[in-house]
Amino acid sequence: MYLKNLHLRSFRNYIEQQVNFNRQKTIIVGNNAQGKSNLLEAVELLATLKSHRTIRDRELVLDGSNAGQISATVKRAYGTAELTLTLRKQGKRTIALNKEPLRRQIEFLGNLNAVQFSSLDLDLVRGAPESRRSWIDGLLIQLEPVYVHILQQYNQVLRQRNALLKAIRKQEQDRKSDISTTKTIDKTQLFLWDEQLAAAGSRVTRRRARVLNRLAPIAQKWHDRISGKTETLTITYAPNVGWTEDIPEKVQQAFLEKIEQRRIAEYHQGKTVVGTHRDEIEFTIDDTPARYYGSQGQQRTLVLALKLAELKLIEEIIGEPPLLLLDDVLAELDPHRQNQLLETIGDRFQTLITTTHINSFNDLWIKDAQILTINQGK
Ligand code: ATP
Ligand code: MG
Repeated sequence: MYLKNLHLRSFRNYIEQQVNFNRQKTIIVGNNAQGKSNLLEAVELLATLKSHRTIRDRELVLDGSNAGQISATVKRAYGTAELTLTLRKQGKRTIALNKEPLRRQIEFLGNLNAVQFSSLDLDLVRGAPESRRSWIDGLLIQLEPVYVHILQQYNQVLRQRNALLKAIRKQEQDRKSDISTTKTIDKTQLFLWDEQLAAAGSRVTRRRARVLNRLAPIAQKWHDRISGKTETLTITYAPNVGWTEDIPEKVQQAFLEKIEQRRIAEYHQGKTVVGTHRDEIEFTIDDTPARYYGSQGQQRTLVLALKLAELKLIEEIIGEPPLLLLDDVLAELDPHRQNQLLETIGDRFQTLITTTHINSFNDLWIKDAQILTINQGK
């Protein structure tokens, strides 16, 4: 696939800017705080309807404006898709495909695929489990847009179950301090939510494990190549409820059993302590958790291997190479890793690269590249 152009209106620090891409590689050069990452963020938003920098749309809209817009034309094997995302300071965002407003995100997602690699991605290894779950969710949304609904359903069940547990806890506390409550909560309501949590959670956790199983061998291969096969990488999905067999009924059963085990803890804490929102992705290098013991270099190699694997997996499943967005990472890679990346990208993957110093690249990167200079959102 090929991103032909991008049009930003009142998005972040861009008042109005049209960008036409005319090479497989585009290098975006600019000093700090000029809008380089903002530009890549706009592409990421069209690909996933999410930004890894914020969950609040109001931050995405130019200060002083009520609404902002990102639009782009993507050339695909099946034709051309024109994507438009309108963001508002207040109120809901809207999406359109070929100028037709869409009600459902799943019709929008999948038209543009992109893999983002920024210095923040080191959090993938050393950050909290949340960042790893959100990474795998972002990948799944692109591979299987319906996943966005599956995830929303789970989060909705979780919110409602949490609200109920919180209310139950409050009732118990009030009772202990002899505060009379007007209405009593029926605790058996919780059993209905248990079932729902198990059903929705099983859909999420199985999909995550499955995609990770496909990604792991590709990442391992890349890791071998980059590290010179001196170390062994293992990637495991560790579900909080501990299921082992990818069979819906068995996974749901594992949920229900774990919920039963932790019932008292849930009453005490007034929230859901069992479920997919506590799953973990474990990376180990030679049997040592990369999170705690990996050196900076080892962690960087791991993240690079994961990103390359993402590229390949999306290409394999979608049947077209996705875009690669490299935000400020190239300069952090040593020449060997830079070359690995360059070889992989070849001419197949359209790549947008940001940098503050163009001369930090070797000539091969610059050869044939389109070079854009950004200065204060222009
Ligand atoms: P660096 O090299 O430091 O990574 P960058 O070029 O990637 O810089 P960006 O992250 O793209 O910089 O941000 C550029 C500027 O956009 C920042 O100065 C920030 O204050 C500004 N900015 C962010 N959100 C908004 C907004 N909603 N309205 C106006 N300006 C914004
Ligand atoms: Mg930046």
